[in-house]
Amino acid sequence: MSDCIFCKIVAGEIPADIVHQDEEVIVFRDINPKADVHLLLVPRAHVASLDELTAEHDALVARMMRMLPQLAREQGLDRGYRTIINTGPGGGQEVPHLHIHLLGGGRLPGF
Ligand code: AMP
Ligand code: ZN
Repeated sequence: MSDCIFCKIVAGEIPADIVHQDEEVIVFRDINPKADVHLLLVPRAHVASLDELTAEHDALVARMMRMLPQLAREQGLDRGYRTIINTGPGGGQEVPHLHIHLLGGGRLPGF
């Protein structure tokens, strides 16, 4: 998707503070953090939202879920963390490329 900001980060066309990347997933710091630690887990492939997932994505989604506790540990979130997936305009999704927010540390707002 040529006009997708996360596809541009995946392609290296715009910079990001990347904390992990592999053949399927890229993880970088949110540009407008809502907590001391605020990461975004993004599949390299463009998938617009949860609504676009198919059985083909099952392994990818499972892998992303299992990356979360490992990333949280690496970020020192020993007491726990919050994960959020916003879907569609009604869910507050601003970037239409599937991503999981991983938040923790100080400044974590109430929910
Ligand atoms: P959502 O509302 O779930 O779509 O979240 C999109 C998130 O992407 C927001 O928290 C933004 O701060 C973040 N964001 C937007 N552009 C960038 C960027 N270029 N680099 C890092 N994070 C970004
Ligand atoms: Zn994209």
